Amino acid sequence: MSVKRLELIYTGGTLGMLPGTQGLTPGHDLWQQIQSTPLSAWLQQQDWALSLHPLDPLLDSSHMQPAHWFKLAALIQQRLTQVDALVVVHGTDTLSWTACALYWLLGALDKPVVLTAAQRPLTAENSDAPANLQLALSHASMAGTQGVMLALHGEIWHPEGLRKIDTQHWPAFAAPYVTPLVSGAAVQVLPPAPELAVSSETLMNWSQRPDPLRILRLPLTPGLEDSWLSQQLAGWSQLDGLILEGLGSGNAPRLPASFAQLARLARQGLWIGLISQCWRGQLSDQYAAQLPLDDSLFCRLPEQTPETAEARLACLLTYKKAGLLSHAQVKTYWAINARELQKSGSLDGAPGPAAD
Ligand code: ASP
Repeated sequence: MSVKRLELIYTGGTLGMLPGTQGLTPGHDLWQQIQSTPLSAWLQQQDWALSLHPLDPLLDSSHMQPAHWFKLAALIQQRLTQVDALVVVHGTDTLSWTACALYWLLGALDKPVVLTAAQRPLTAENSDAPANLQLALSHASMAGTQGVMLALHGEIWHPEGLRKIDTQHWPAFAAPYVTPLVSGAAVQVLPPAPELAVSSETLMNWSQRPDPLRILRLPLTPGLEDSWLSQQLAGWSQLDGLILEGLGSGNAPRLPASFAQLARLARQGLWIGLISQCWRGQLSDQYAAQLPLDDSLFCRLPEQTPETAEARLACLLTYKKAGLLSHAQVKTYWAINARELQKSGSLDGAPGPAAD
């Protein structure tokens, strides 16, 4: 069955931006912008009913927060009851976080949700926007395609694992650990996302939470001074999650007082995750200079990008706050690497959802 009803959810982002008095801002006339490009003729040849659903307000994705992910996930759930496929236009700055969050919030989908973005506005010269939009729409329209995915610069990607690597040229994204799902026009059925989906009402409630999560990322660099850092950490008792970016394969500078503080915070409930600062950073415990924390106090996040480490934790802790995941489940889900998810298509070894 070929897809007939497609919808474009336009969140903002450079793809639809226009110059304003203070710089580029999302334009309110995406449809007219599309009409002024060669995409218009191509769209007329398609046998679709294509609708446009702009967010209110439209956003530069730099202004997005977890509350926006929850709201967007709720909107996607609602719209998928009305249409056969969705294309989400987003900014490139935080696309990696949003894609990961949608994957963990929407669970297994039987319809496609294809995210796309661009480095240059649709109406700019030599823009990458028309081609990206065309790829996203074409892919979303293919029979059998399902799940959250990204369509960028001729390639389709799993929602986890991409990092923004370039602010001007394309490809704008690259992935340290995973490869594109398909190239060109092949039909791709994504592996089922984790069975963690909740209702759109719940997602909307989460978007309005008065107690948002506090998650920080801290690169462990040679410039950190131990007594100063340990004093700062002493005041971080309200922090929910901390992603430590270790040196090399997860090593740490000598910061005894700071690590003593971190151990104390971890015992009080702070979630600490360890990734590497390296572009491809496999973690290992072969060095004496490894992170001087007891294994029970932190999670190793092998082959995880900072974006997935953060977005996934924000989603998992939100599920946990709602009583939908146990401590052990958060730990297990947080540590699964994107390559594993893409390879197996399932969370083998992960316990099924249950509250503790
Ligand atoms: N600042 C823009 C955004 O993320 C950048 C882009 O879309 O490329 O919305």
